[in-house]
Amino acid sequence: MQLLEDRVLKDGVVREGSVLKVDSFLNHQLDIPLFVEMGREFARIFDGCEINKVLTIEASGIAIACFAAQQIGCPVVFAKKSRTKNIAGDLWHSKVESYTHGKIYDVVVSRDFLGPNDRVLIIDDFLANGAALTGLINMVQQSGATLVGAGIAIEKAFQPGGDLLRSRGVRIESLVRIKSMSPETGIEFC
Ligand code: 5GP
Repeated sequence: MQLLEDRVLKDGVVREGSVLKVDSFLNHQLDIPLFVEMGREFARIFDGCEINKVLTIEASGIAIACFAAQQIGCPVVFAKKSRTKNIAGDLWHSKVESYTHGKIYDVVVSRDFLGPNDRVLIIDDFLANGAALTGLINMVQQSGATLVGAGIAIEKAFQPGGDLLRSRGVRIESLVRIKSMSPETGIEFC
């Protein structure tokens, strides 16, 4: 998606540890016209897939998921990072290691909001090692829902998550794919 590539080049900041900061338009301050276009693009890519639920993970995936769901015409469910150790029986749950914080979270979704009648599109802001996506896919599988695919705003294609999950048959569509990046040389797209 040219608009997003241009914005990443203009305002993205590459940090040590292969972290791209996009706080000025995607992760902290949100550029709403850009989100509208991203939502339209996800709806176009997954047109005809009969999606009835968009699933994401708090916090940064939620806004993007909302714009996609508005275009698709379905609700958003977001997985919550649980703070309690006792996992109640009415929840789907999974463990996810956070890329940016290094912590392992229990993430949960109520069984009321994800089940066998759902056709699910997963949306997230970044794909790096694939931990967040794997955790969400895990909950879709537990629930008996059908996974249509995953829509990612920014895939860091030099990290293994995308290849790994595609090799397992997951349809992953990323709006931009970064081939390489470093604070010294900047960003190169695939
Ligand atoms: P993964 O689980 O695929 O390793 O990482 C994806 C998750 O980590 C995303 O939900 C995103 O919030 C965060 N993340 C991964 N890489 C980056 C990055 O370079 N920049 C930012 N801002 N978040 C990232």
